[in-house]
Amino acid sequence: MKSVATLPLPLDEPFEQERTRDDSVTPMMAQYQMLKAQHPDCLLFYRMGDFYELFFEDAVKAAAALDIALTRRGQHQGQDVPMCGVPVHAYETYLARLIRKGFRVAIAEQMEDPAAARKRPGKSLVARDVVRIVTPGTVTEESLLEARAANHLLALATESGGALGLAWMDLATGQPLTQGVSRENLAACLARLDPGEIICADTLLTRPGLAAALQPWRDRLTPQPASRFDPVNARRRLEATYGVQALDSFGNFSATEMTAAGALLDYVELTQKRQMPLLAPLRQVSAGGVVQLDAATRRNLELGRTLSGERQGSLLASLDRSLTAAGARLLASHLAAPLTDPALIEQRLDGVAFFLEYGTLRAAFRQNLRSCPDIERSLARLALGRGGPRDLAALRDGLACAADIAGRLNQETGLPGLLAQAVRSLRGQDTLYADLSAALAAELPLAARDGGFIARGYAAHLDEQFVLRDEGRRLIATLEASYRQRSGVASLKIRHNNVLGYHIEVTSAQADRLTSGPERESFIHRQTTANSVRFSTQELMDLERRVAEAGGKALAIELALFERLSAQALEQTESLRALATGLAMVDEAAALAERAQEGQWCRPQMTNDDTFEIEGGCHPVVVDALARQTATPFIPNDCALIPEQRLWLVTGPNMAGKSTFLRQNALIALLAQMGSYVPARRARLGVVDRLFSRVGAADDLARGQSTFMVEMLETAAILNQATSRSLVILDEIGRGTATWDGLAIAWACLEHLHDVIGCRALFATHYHELTALCKKLPHLSPVTMRIHEGPEGIVFMHQVIPGTADRSYGLHVAALAGLPKTVLDRAAQVLAHLEEQSLSNGQAGKADISALPAAMMAPVVPASPVLDALRSLDPDTLTPREALDAIYALKAKI
Ligand code: ATP
Repeated sequence: MKSVATLPLPLDEPFEQERTRDDSVTPMMAQYQMLKAQHPDCLLFYRMGDFYELFFEDAVKAAAALDIALTRRGQHQGQDVPMCGVPVHAYETYLARLIRKGFRVAIAEQMEDPAAARKRPGKSLVARDVVRIVTPGTVTEESLLEARAANHLLALATESGGALGLAWMDLATGQPLTQGVSRENLAACLARLDPGEIICADTLLTRPGLAAALQPWRDRLTPQPASRFDPVNARRRLEATYGVQALDSFGNFSATEMTAAGALLDYVELTQKRQMPLLAPLRQVSAGGVVQLDAATRRNLELGRTLSGERQGSLLASLDRSLTAAGARLLASHLAAPLTDPALIEQRLDGVAFFLEYGTLRAAFRQNLRSCPDIERSLARLALGRGGPRDLAALRDGLACAADIAGRLNQETGLPGLLAQAVRSLRGQDTLYADLSAALAAELPLAARDGGFIARGYAAHLDEQFVLRDEGRRLIATLEASYRQRSGVASLKIRHNNVLGYHIEVTSAQADRLTSGPERESFIHRQTTANSVRFSTQELMDLERRVAEAGGKALAIELALFERLSAQALEQTESLRALATGLAMVDEAAALAERAQEGQWCRPQMTNDDTFEIEGGCHPVVVDALARQTATPFIPNDCALIPEQRLWLVTGPNMAGKSTFLRQNALIALLAQMGSYVPARRARLGVVDRLFSRVGAADDLARGQSTFMVEMLETAAILNQATSRSLVILDEIGRGTATWDGLAIAWACLEHLHDVIGCRALFATHYHELTALCKKLPHLSPVTMRIHEGPEGIVFMHQVIPGTADRSYGLHVAALAGLPKTVLDRAAQVLAHLEEQSLSNGQAGKADISALPAAMMAPVVPASPVLDALRSLDPDTLTPREALDAIYALKAKI
């Protein structure tokens, strides 16, 4: 028997041995330190074989963040080197967790086969380089992205004059966009785009005015050296990227927009290491084209998320019936940026109306949309060299879905303009579809390097290698049977692992049969483990070589085919993107039709004047919530802000539905302008240019602001920015301060809205005194929430009627909330006295507590059954026996 103690194992090169000449660091340590020094702000994922390893401080941070073991590897300058690692095949999960925790990760790959490095004379250090920097705004992996939300990388540039320029891009769409904004509108723009990462010059962070707007985004900011925002370089970069002498043909960009766009592309290149996504031409977004909604309004109206940050319970969640991720992203982006041009809104509404009418058709293709993959994101991964066979399959299946929908819709006449345009983009990829269908196998691995994704019969030269490989495998199986028979060991197995390759395995007890049998010379000992002994034979090694060679050749052919198919798809990038957008448009319009049908919503009539007439309007989220939680139906309400009554003063008891009414009208306006049907019986709406909502009170402790300060900041923004075309929703302004201060502020705000701004507004208040203003302000109209006071108590009817409320019914709501009876009784007592006092001295809202009757000021003694029983006892009349019984009774009451 021959014993081969050291077969060449595919081990990587040493980290801590092989010292350099000065004997201080190993070549590998020097390589690691060089790469780390180039990326000091990133965790360095250093590829070593099947693992990405992290060292030193990076390892300590990553191990804590990922909750994985921190180990050691060798020493550096006399100290142990901390290390942790993540397996390459599962790295995405770890990467996702690190990115979510705010880390940036530089990925250093092995740039050559370790075997090639070993063949080099002298040292065997594998060449490595950082191939990508993973940041929140540039990720493309499915597991790192929210499927139904866009991920914008945004660059912000300024110039000395103060003008601001924004440029942003979702790497998945490759469409860079720019917009010039004023300082006041910056916060609103950022709220609309909700970027995953913002890059700006580090010098901006301390700029007065900007610092406050950027503050809420501090976790997503990546400050850059100011030199990256140099206007001349930025222009050159854009011209070079697009291969043009001047960018005039793309649009009339301001200098700051161009600087921002140049810096954006620069950053993409920096992080993607020159592997640029396929870019669409730079496009400018006009600021006036969409409704301006500031961050506070979006938050208050709970458009994309609830006040507590969840999607469930938001308007988006209640609206979105889309079935594809791209459709969901389109719908979310339309809700985030409703239009201001009635003609464009009507175009979108036409699409929804069409799918409402053709319900059977809609149901049929929606069934197919369910399995439609995300073409946009797969294409982006392929363009960035990060795609796999499943991305090709996504294109194939997306094309099939598109062809199916195009076929169905083509048969319909009278397709409205936008849908007709979408359907046109769904055709014309038959060759690519046919190639992908023929090429791809039924089961696909995640990564191309795993092989096995090309279907048999697609390429003859690949099939040949498959036959050789499979034949080898079959021969190995035959060999196993023969060894079993020859050795008499029925449990003998031929196994495979990455270290030994193919080997014969028997239990320790049966190893003797091989080592002392007649064929003992053939069996070469490879390894002894706790329970088994492993051998090889020349025959097995020869077969293994055949299998490996054929397998290697097959993989090389498969990889070449993968490259060819990817290139073929990428040549069609522009039309594939248009097709993906077409599918998303169809999905969105059908989804809105589905929602409209579910809720019996109506098509809003859009006008260019100041109309705001809603009949039977509902709050979609409250309707859903009531349907889920109670049997109580939602009561629809009308709202008519006609020119003579463009401002409504809403009073009414707590809990009567004032906030719901205010919000539902704002939501109806937004839904209509995004191109959706609305939850109402009828709606005639003049488009609004800006919508402001200040509903409810919220502390912003993270920004160090009190409830009242937040309230005043938001109110100030409204009064400073609203125009006569805006819609303003103000709920309980001035509530956060003393009565007189609050009333005075609310009063003045109401007058300002009425006299100076002249916009449409709904103003809810507890200050019933304000209803007196209705006599003074001709366009102010009072409405109230109807209540019914019957023998069973007060019932809120949730109905808006003309008139004013005289009371708040606060105690009634307190009772509903379960305040202890003693507290309620006491409050009723105090209220009665305060009301009496204010009536007698005519000072509403001002209480002189010292003038209350003395009995009212006595300390409140909590009710006690023991004390009550004690008080009722007369000791002089008790017999000893009765006294003893009384003591027992008292004790029992404790
Ligand atoms: P507060 O002044 O205390 O903030 P409010 O008058 O603003 O109260 P809302 O918060 O709007 O009252 O509504 C209270 C509850 O009444 C809602 O949670 C909802 O369950 C119910 N409600 C509101 N409007 C309606 C309606 N139109 N139909 C049925 N129920 C409604």
